[in-house]
Order: sequence, then C-alpha cells, then structure tokens
Amino acid sequence: MNVIDIFLTMEYGPAPESDKNAQEFLDQHDRRFGLFINGEWTEGENHFPSLNPATGETLAQISEASTAQVEAAVAAAKSAYPSWSQLSGHERAKYLYALARQIQKHSRLFAVLETLDNGKPIRETRDIDIPLVARHFYHHAGWAQVMEQEFPNFESIGVIGQIVPWNFPLLMLSWKIAPALAMGNTLVLKPAEQTSLTALLFAEICQEIGLPKGVVNIITGHGSVGEALTLHPDVQKIAFTGSTEVGKKIRRNTAGSSKKLSLELGGKSPFIVFEDADLDSTVEGIVDAIWFNQGQVCCAGSRLLVQESIAEKFYVKIKNRIQKLVLGSPLDKGIDMGALVSEEQWNTVNGFVERAKAEGLEYWQVENCPTKGCYFPPTLFPYVSPASEIAQEEIFGPVLVGMTFRSHQEAIKLANNTRYGLAASLWTENINLALDVAPKIKAGTVWINTTNVFDAASGFGGYRESGFGREGGKEGLYEYIKPKSTKSSSGFTIHNKEVNLRSYIDRTPKMYIGGKQARPDSGYSIKVSNPAGQTVGEVGEGTRKDIRNAVEAAHAQSGWAGMTGHARAQVLYFIAENLSARAEEFEQRLVEASGYSGKDAKLEVEKSLERIFTYAAYADKFDGRVHSTTSRHVTLAMHEPVGILGVVCPKEYPLLGMISLVLPAIAMGNRVIVLPSETSPLSTTDFYQILDTSDVPGGTVNIITGDHKSLTTELAKHFDVDGIWYFSDKQNAETLEKLAADSMKRTWIESEYDWLQNPLQKEFLRKATEVKNIWIPYGA
Ligand code: NAD
Repeated sequence: MNVIDIFLTMEYGPAPESDKNAQEFLDQHDRRFGLFINGEWTEGENHFPSLNPATGETLAQISEASTAQVEAAVAAAKSAYPSWSQLSGHERAKYLYALARQIQKHSRLFAVLETLDNGKPIRETRDIDIPLVARHFYHHAGWAQVMEQEFPNFESIGVIGQIVPWNFPLLMLSWKIAPALAMGNTLVLKPAEQTSLTALLFAEICQEIGLPKGVVNIITGHGSVGEALTLHPDVQKIAFTGSTEVGKKIRRNTAGSSKKLSLELGGKSPFIVFEDADLDSTVEGIVDAIWFNQGQVCCAGSRLLVQESIAEKFYVKIKNRIQKLVLGSPLDKGIDMGALVSEEQWNTVNGFVERAKAEGLEYWQVENCPTKGCYFPPTLFPYVSPASEIAQEEIFGPVLVGMTFRSHQEAIKLANNTRYGLAASLWTENINLALDVAPKIKAGTVWINTTNVFDAASGFGGYRESGFGREGGKEGLYEYIKPKSTKSSSGFTIHNKEVNLRSYIDRTPKMYIGGKQARPDSGYSIKVSNPAGQTVGEVGEGTRKDIRNAVEAAHAQSGWAGMTGHARAQVLYFIAENLSARAEEFEQRLVEASGYSGKDAKLEVEKSLERIFTYAAYADKFDGRVHSTTSRHVTLAMHEPVGILGVVCPKEYPLLGMISLVLPAIAMGNRVIVLPSETSPLSTTDFYQILDTSDVPGGTVNIITGDHKSLTTELAKHFDVDGIWYFSDKQNAETLEKLAADSMKRTWIESEYDWLQNPLQKEFLRKATEVKNIWIPYGA
C-alpha cells in the first residue's frame, strides 16, 4: 500500500507490538508456572494449559492447586496476618507504593502478556488496564497512610479469599489486592483459569519488592480451587467477581458462616439515547460500551434503548460505524477488537446469537471478521422485544440488542426491566433530564454522556443480581474492615417476679400494614407472657400472606424515598415528640411485659428518644461525596436508600432495639417490614399508635408479629425485599442467607450488640444506604 492508497482509503497498515519480552518471560519459566504460597514457588500436582485465544497457541502450563495447597496458602496468610496488620499505615503505604512503581516499570510486559493471554487489544491493555492497575495501587497506598484518621473505629478483618474472572485479569486483581492490603489484611487470590499469567508476574513483583512472606498468596486452578478457598474456615472474608451463577453458589455455600462477602457479578446494562443526544458522540459511546474488550465487560452497555423519534436515523449511523470496526491480531496497535477469551466463550456467545436468529430477529453483523482464532463479529439486533432471551440474559460478548421508547418514564421502566443492576449510560444534552433519570435507575454506576469510565477513587458495584458491595473509592474500603468491638458490656437485669398488671390485658394489638391496623391473615393469635410467666397480651400470628401485604404496602410508598432529608427529619422529630408524651405508658409496658425495673424502663425510653433525635439529625446530614476521579469529570457518590428492608429485632431491648434499627433505616428513605422482639413484641405494637399520630406515611413502617423463623423465611424469599437486617436467633441465619441468594439480597446479621451505647451509630446509616456513582463529564 503506498501513501496515496492510504490517503484515499484512510486505512492503516499493520502496526504490531513486539511480544519478544513476554515470550522471553515465558521461556525463562520453561513455560510452566507454580503456585505462589508463603513467598515461595510450589509446583502444583497437575497442570493445565493457558492458551492465546487469538492463535490457539499454548502459552504456558499452569498449576492446579490441590486442596492441601489451598490450605497451605490460607495458613500462610493466617500466620502473616498478625505482623502485617500491626504495621503502621505508613509502612503498608510504602509497600503499596512500591507495587505501583514496579507495575509502572514493567507496564509494557504486563500489557503484552495480558493481551497474549486474554485476546484483548494491546491498545486497551497498554492504555487502560495497566495504567488503571498502577493507579489503584497508588490510590490505596494513600488509604493505607490515612486509615487510622479516616476509619478510627474500624480494624482489618484477617485472611481474605479473593477470586477474579478473566475479562480484566490484572485490573480485577488490583481492585481486590490493593484495598485488602491497605486496610491491613492478608490474602489468597485465585485468578481465572483462562488468564493466570499476569497474576503470576504480579507475584514475582511482590517478591521483588520484599513484601513479607504470606501477605499475598496466588493460587491457580479451576472453579473447584475457588470453591475450596471460599469454604475454608480460616478465610474471614470473600471477595468474588464473576458470574451471578457462581456468586449465588458462594452465597449459599457460606450462608450462616459469618464470613463477610462482597459479590461483583454480571449485568445487562442499559444504554439510553434520548432524542436530543449528540448522535455522533453517542455512536462513539456505543462503540466503547459494547465493543470495548469484545463486549466482555460486566457493565457493558448491552441493551440499547433509543427514543423512537430518532431510532431509524440513529440505527443508520451505527450500521455505518460498525462496518468500520477493525478486527485483527490483538497485538496490532491499529485494531479495534481482538479475540474472545476462549473457544468456550465463543460458543456461548454464538449460541445466544443463533437462538436469536432462529427466533427470526433482524440483525446486522460486521463482515470482515478473521476466521481463525476466537474472533466474533460485532453484532446488533436492532428490534428486540424486552422479553426476548437476548434482551434479558448477559451475553458477555460483542452483541448489542436494541429497543425503542417514547417517553422518559418508559425509558426508566425499560432500563429497570432486568434482574441486574450494575450500570447505565444516558445520552442527552439536557442535564435536567439526565439528573432526573439517573437516580431512578437501579444501578450502582450511571454515566451521563460517557460510558465505561473507571477510576480507583470511585466505587463500583451493583444492585440486585449484580451483587452487593462496592470496590474502589472510600465506600469500597468498608469491605475490608470491620468495626472494633460492639458487644454489650453490661445489660439490664431482667426480673422474673410477678408484677401487678395494670394495663391492657384485654387488648390484642393487630399488625400494622400500609398505615392501617390489620388482622392476621391466619386468624390466630399468640399469647405473650412476661419473664414471670404472666400473660400480658396477645399478638397476631403473622404468615406469608401478611408479609406479602406488608411488602406490597411498602412498595407502594415509594414517595418516602423521594422526600428531602429535612422533610423526613421533621417526621422523625414528631415521632420523638409523641413518644415523649407517652413515655410513662411505654415505661410501664417494659416493667409489666419485659421484666424491667422502673429505673431501667425509664432509661430505655430516654435512650429511645435520644436515638430518634440522633437519626432525625442525620436524615439530612449523612450525605455522599464528590469523588476526585479522572479529569473533566464530576463523579457524584450519592447515597440512596437500599429500598425495602426487612428488620428482625432482637429479643432484648424490645423498644430501644427496634428504634435503633428502624429509625436509621427510615431516616435514609427506606421502607421497612419490622418483626418485633419475639418474646416482647408489645412495645413495638404499641409503637404503631405513635407512628399513626406522627405523619409517617402509610407503608413506610409495617409491623408483623409472630414466629421469627417462618416470617424471616418469607422475607428472605420475597423478591421485592432488598435487604434484611437480622438481630434475632443466630440459628436461623444460615437458612436466611441461603434463601437470600436467589434474589441477591443484602443481609446484615448480628447476634449481640450494645444497644445502650450504640457504638455503630453511623454504621446503621451506611447499611441503610447504597452508593450510586454518577459520572458527569464537562468541557466547553
Ligand atoms: P465465573 O463465575 O465462571 O468465574 C469467575 C471466577 O470464579 C474464576 O476464577 C473461576 O475459576 C471461579 N469459580 C468458578 N466456580 C467457582 C466456585 N464454585 N467457587 C468459587 N470460585 C469459582 O465467571 P467468568 O466467566 O470468569 O467471568 C465472567 C463473569 O464475571 C460475567 O458474568 C461478568 O459480568 C462478571 N464480572 C463482573 C464484574 C463486576 O465488577 N461486577 C467484573 C468483571 C466480570
């Protein structure tokens, strides 16, 4: 091709990146790698090949860790933990800084190795993956340095088990390892079996910088190695990124074990184009959204929602653009797309496409696609029904599905019509519209007029079946720390002497659903006795139907979340005012029904009033942040309510326990279904009269009495309940977490807490909120 040809066609010639150093690196290891345990290399019992998906060539043999080797790795992390966690933040910061520097120094080797192993273009590994990895270690070196000042009431957790997928092998490793080390934990990480090489090179760098032995252990192998790691009793926290299917399995496997868990799972993220969008920029946005990394991106904009008025015009632009996408050797600096990670992944993607074709769906595909290697042509199905398989399932490949909408309300409905909730991208020149729509989309990240932008300073993570927990930003660090002791030092003395019952024996409180008193659907009541065995009243025996009605009522009360913090605070103060007016009555109830002394009853009511004031105060103060991320972007880390929470109260502190749980939840805009103290429910059923007179909108707080085990089971099974705070009998925790896996509910389980001192005051607010990061680019 001569210069004139190039000028006329505007086509680039090949510009291959050399893989010489990467091949030499593999040769130096005889193309056979061991496991990195306790700072040393150990051979696995078996090996499996790591392939270059663009050529099919075997790059190296990777060790498959045996169960004994998984145990050895965990043991190494465990014995390294005491001294690593005791290092000062500054000492840990120096190690993280050294890792960042070494990654930068070896950045080209990392980039080429990643490209060889994964099939992604060198342009991406060189300019996106590896710079972000270094950025992650720098950023977290900073968090290690300031940990004591920023998290004074928290400490490290212990040994962390970390499992990552193959789509961003080293980047996902950095998202896991940097915060874990910064916060003083030690770890065992397993990369994906398809792409272990850069993790092994990283292990060498840990050796090079003199990271203490056992702090980082890298074990390779298939899913069973990951499973053994998650089941190990000495692993105190699991951080998993991967498919929703495996995420659910891990949730079930670890249910009731008290292991902390964060799950970064799949997605089917909407890419919404409004009629006033700058269509040429938007087309480029689509290229980044679904053809970046061959579409193997958890937050890929894989569902295109286009306003009907511009759909035809817009589709023509996309069609023209995708024909220009260049597929070819991932090492070629001029290509747009490389190969999928493996033949297996190619078959999965192809299966979706073939089934959609068989449904008769119209499609466009890029014609120039290499036939050797795992290359898949960029594909668009422009007219898909929302119920179609390819509109609902994560394809994890370069396949875009399109549908249209008329109004922005319809766009929101379509966007949320998915079991996932990872990310969304909105395109409009109208900032009012964008900022109205962004909070209404159930997704952890929303990009406005941009897409797939990441930074270590911003949190990333999902809702619903995209998992829970955040990685990156200050919010991500909470996954790697735990509150210092919260246990109760001394509680009230409960008396079991008979008392003179003055009140209410003949009154049977009902349940409280949607702001109205409701009889139990079962038609049965349960006797309530005090510790002396005297009957003090009866409450309804709640069932599945009552839980369903309560969830429906909570669902209908979405207005509560939309109120300002100030408006909610006023309602909370009003609750305090009304409780204060009836303080004596509540004290009396605690004496008669719960075995309290008069003095303790008074203290419990006083503390309850104080707590209501605390959370009323926070209603307009527990706000988000503006993260300092990439240039020309404002990244708003907004706190939003989790949604509908099930709140299962402790047996003890029947009034204060309930108030300490319900008030922060509603202060942040959640609606709750409360299961009162199982043994002393009457303080809570009395409380609905306070709610009735305090302007709490019906459906915000719903109270269902009865057996915790069966009612918690119903809450856990309900798909419209977003989270459960469980402070009752620990023996139900396992069932609860197993059932919660189906809808990926957040669970918070504690069996002991110092209700009088409330040491986790702000932690309740944090658990009551989720962080949504909204990225807004700017520039005139
Ligand atoms: P995968 O779930 O099959 O595998 C992920 C990792 O889990 C691998 O290391 C694998 O060996 C391991 N694993 C498999 N079975 C296991 C088990 N039973 N117990 C423990 N570990 C086990 O996922 P994948 O195909 O490698 O990756 C693609 C998925 O990852 C997609 O669904 C994608 O959306 C998701 N992902 C999510 C994010 C995010 O941040 N939310 C980021 C990247 C990828």
